Formats: sequence, C-alpha cells, structure tokens
Amino acid sequence: MALLELENVTAFYGPVQVLDGVSLSVPEGGAVGILGANGAGKTTTLRAITGVVRAGGSIRFDGQDIRGMRTDRVARIGIAHVPEGRGTLGSLTVRENLRVGAYLRKDRKAIQTDIDYLLELFPNLKERYRSSASALSGGEQQMLAVARAFMARPRLLLLDEASLGLAPSTAKNVYDAIARLRVESGIAMLVVEQNANLAFRLVDTATVLETGRNVLTGTSAELKGMDEIRRAYLGG
Ligand code: ATP
Repeated sequence: MALLELENVTAFYGPVQVLDGVSLSVPEGGAVGILGANGAGKTTTLRAITGVVRAGGSIRFDGQDIRGMRTDRVARIGIAHVPEGRGTLGSLTVRENLRVGAYLRKDRKAIQTDIDYLLELFPNLKERYRSSASALSGGEQQMLAVARAFMARPRLLLLDEASLGLAPSTAKNVYDAIARLRVESGIAMLVVEQNANLAFRLVDTATVLETGRNVLTGTSAELKGMDEIRRAYLGG
C-alpha cells in the first residue's frame, strides 16, 4: 500500500478548474516529483492534500481518506508542508525556528538529537544558529524551512519549489542536502519543482502536469531520457 495515494483529484478556484484528474502515489520512504510549467497545477495539488484547497476525487494517506481534512489535522497525522516562499519565522532565530517545528513533541532528548543532526547536515545553519531567520541568505532560509518541517518528524514532507530564487549552485546544494536527509531518515517526499534536473537529484519517480492533468509519469531515469522532457523542462 502506498503511503499517499491521489486518484482523479480535481480542484477549482471559483469557476476555473485547475486540477482535472490528478493521480499519483508516494510509497513509504519514497520520493516523487511533480514537474510542469508555471500554472500547471503543481502547488494546487499540494494544497489539495493539506486541505487548503477543496478537492474532488480521492486522497488517501496511510489508508485513511484525508480529503477535506482540516489543515492542522493533516499536520498532526504526519504530513509537513514546506510552502513556496519557505515560511520560516523571520523574527525568530534559527534555534527558535527549529524548536517551533517540534512543538508537538515532548521528548526533549530526541528533539536535541534531531537538532544536532540537522546542524551537521546543514553546517550553514550551525554557523547562524543564533541569528534571526530574516538575516539568512535565500539558500539558508530554504534549508531552515526544511529543517524546521523535519523537526515535526513527519512521515511525509511536501516540498514546493525549493529552488525558487536561488543561484544554480546553491539550489543544487540545497537539493543534495535534502536528498541526504531523505536517505538517512527514510522520510517520504512529494516534491514540486519546475527545474526537472534539480528534482532528479532527489526523486525516484515523477509525474508531469499540464493544465491540471498528468501527461507523463515515469522513473527519473526514464524521464531524463525523453526528448519532450528535455525540451520543455531541462532547458534544451
Ligand atoms: P507555479 O509554479 O506558478 O506555482 P503551479 O503549477 O504550481 O505553478 P498553481 O499554482 O497550482 O500552478 O496554479 C494553477 C492555476 O490556478 C494557475 O492558472 C493559476 O493562475 C491559478 N491559481 C492559482 N492560485 C489561484 C487563486 N488563489 N485564485 C485563482 N486562481 C489561482
């Protein structure tokens, strides 16, 4: 059984249909990409999962129907969302952001172990541990957003366009660190990304959306080899 399963998911903004039957499946511990151009419906798919957008079709997590579930409950059952634009708390320090991420947990020792691990994984955050999040670079803020989400110890991480606004080499570093986090922790990930080359550093399989529909689904290796993917999403 998949950890997350979307079948024929639909969504509207007012009268405008933006998801027109999206299906995908994330296995336990797996990483799946959602690729596609601006406006294809990638972000809306994540919002349907977290209950921010009302959806039709079927959305199941760990066998449970979660379609229409309230956003705070979705978080409590183990789905963390790192939205586009990161959502770190700018006036709080790195340390405080990480502690806020763990607010549902009580195991102090395990919380500290996780913080130590994350500071080793993201050395920049270690250097900036007592700085306010707003003073960090874009790449550091993205790392902090992921680290903060991880502190909730979710089973599934939804990651939206982690490369947004980052220099190419920074974006690669961020993706490679997230890939390590995934392998070492076994946390499953659903990753929205416009830059397919970056997504392929992290995901095993991906689906391509166009105007709210899946048009292609395959393994990273399969998709990388396709001319239409190269032309549309890899820059030639
Ligand atoms: P992006 O990379 O821009 O986030 P995306 O693939 O994630 O692209 P969505 O953000 O899911 O696409 O948007 C899908 C469609 O819905 C687009 O045509 C967009 O203009 C429209 N849309 C998004 N948010 C809203 C909203 N709050 N109200 C109305 N229309 C919206």
